[in-house]
Amino acid sequence: MPKRKVIVIGSGFGGLAAAGLLARGGFDVTVIEKNEQAGGRASVWKKDGFTFDMGPSWYLMPDVFEKFFAEFGKKPQDYMDLVRLDPSYRVFFDKDDYVDISADLEKNLDLFEELEAGAKEKMKEYLKLSKYEYDIAMKDFIYKDYKHLTDFFKPKLIVEGTKLHMFKKLDDFAKRFFKSEKIRKILEYTIVFLGGSPYDSPALYSLMSHVDFNMGVWFPKGGMGKLVEAMQKIAEEQGAKFVFKEPVEKILVANGKAAGVKTSKNKYDADLVVVNADYAWAEQNLIDKKHRSYSQKYWEKRKIAPSAYLLFLGLNKPLKRFIHHNLYFDPKWDKHFDDIFKKPKWPKNFSYYVSCISKTDKTSAIKGGENVFVLIPVAAGLKDEEKIRQYYFDKTIEHMEKLAGENIRDHIIAKRIFAHNDFSNRYNAYKGTALGLAHTLKQTAVFRPKHESKKVKNLYYTGHYNHPGIGVPMVIISSQIISKMLLSS
Ligand SMILES: Cc1cc2nc3c(=O)[nH]c(=O)nc-3n(C[C@H](O)[C@H](O)[C@H](O)COP(=O)(O)OP(=O)(O)OC[C@H]3O[C@@H](n4cnc5c(N)ncnc54)[C@H](O)[C@@H]3O)c2cc1C
Repeated sequence: MPKRKVIVIGSGFGGLAAAGLLARGGFDVTVIEKNEQAGGRASVWKKDGFTFDMGPSWYLMPDVFEKFFAEFGKKPQDYMDLVRLDPSYRVFFDKDDYVDISADLEKNLDLFEELEAGAKEKMKEYLKLSKYEYDIAMKDFIYKDYKHLTDFFKPKLIVEGTKLHMFKKLDDFAKRFFKSEKIRKILEYTIVFLGGSPYDSPALYSLMSHVDFNMGVWFPKGGMGKLVEAMQKIAEEQGAKFVFKEPVEKILVANGKAAGVKTSKNKYDADLVVVNADYAWAEQNLIDKKHRSYSQKYWEKRKIAPSAYLLFLGLNKPLKRFIHHNLYFDPKWDKHFDDIFKKPKWPKNFSYYVSCISKTDKTSAIKGGENVFVLIPVAAGLKDEEKIRQYYFDKTIEHMEKLAGENIRDHIIAKRIFAHNDFSNRYNAYKGTALGLAHTLKQTAVFRPKHESKKVKNLYYTGHYNHPGIGVPMVIISSQIISKMLLSS
């Protein structure tokens, strides 16, 4: 029997995972990618002796990666030198006001007690719940496909959903435990990783505290690009082929079934097509209207996850006060969330993230230099123009200099600004989103766009728009879900 042919459109983590799993399952897999390298949002940019991860930098939920690599009889460590960071990260509340979250839980509990009397015991309770939520979510919610409302609204899941605080808001939940704003911010910031706001995301996501405090923050030496390389290698070892610099222009449909794709250079026949490119963009640009599962109005009504204003900076000196991962929480951080989700606009004041991977991996910078990545979450769909980019560059550097207590501007020897227009141009991101579809209750599980096309047979979608959602571990699981579906069909 000839192998069934699969075309995977896009080589983000979703595409890479699908390619490996489907090739292992006996399909003839070709991944077609518009850009020059694999990884999608996790692309790598090299400039003047610096190697920048352009997207994800937090390797969280190591169990998900272990489970994925185990599908091939491997461990992540077979391909990467993984280290657990300690401290996990530094949180700045102001210039001389910062705390370190340690890899040692006891130290963190003592820190919380310093921030609020009695918080040590409360945090133990919070983490117990958080672990419970994580375990149940992984067992019963996350690794599942939801086709129909009835798949979600099963009595057991409703009972579990209530226990998992699915129907409460994260901020209200954290307030039940802690008065200290600092503690709440430390517990809530991870929701930004999921493209959400603590004021609008289910309290279920307090499970991220288990991820953060118990499972730890990891780093593949050489950067997240090493994870991309590892997953591409796995897919190739299973026989998947890769084609780069060839944007798909159309998904071909014959007799109601996906029949292949047309690219800028070629036509490829296929028995199955898996779309890893952004769902909203692909549906509106690669498929005839009559074959689309969702209308333009549907997409316009979705809560799109934030975009990001990014700086990749190569410095000719190290920064003394910053560690590998650093977060600055603005005193009015709720206002920043409003600027992202409620009334989208460029924020006046903002919280932001700075990573210096050269603290852990000297090869990512020139000798004696620093590799600096800055991320400000901003609303998707904002006007992105040169003067705004320059304004935020000046404002951010000025603020970073205040936190760092030293000059930064005069030590920049490599620089790139990356924002909405780049997300759209490089990844075909809908409204320039960095992260896809936000995690509100109404966009969770069965309420996320379906893995399977409603109109075209043998057409599937995987990635951050689908269940379970945003983040590297989640999109890998998204592909594990569709692969299981396809291999059992
Ligand atoms: C700045 C930033 C920081 C992040 N930080 C973290 C983090 O620390 N930890 C974490 O876990 N997650 C993080 N994330 C989220 C995580 O990176 C994403 O959820 C995940 O990488 C998305 O993977 P994906 O496969 O769904 O999509 P993508 O990575 O976008 O992959 C889609 C691919 O499709 C390709 N494509 C698009 N159109 C076409 C076409 N017409 N033809 C062919 N190919 C096409 C694109 O070029 C791209 O390669 C971050 C994201 C960003 C942007």
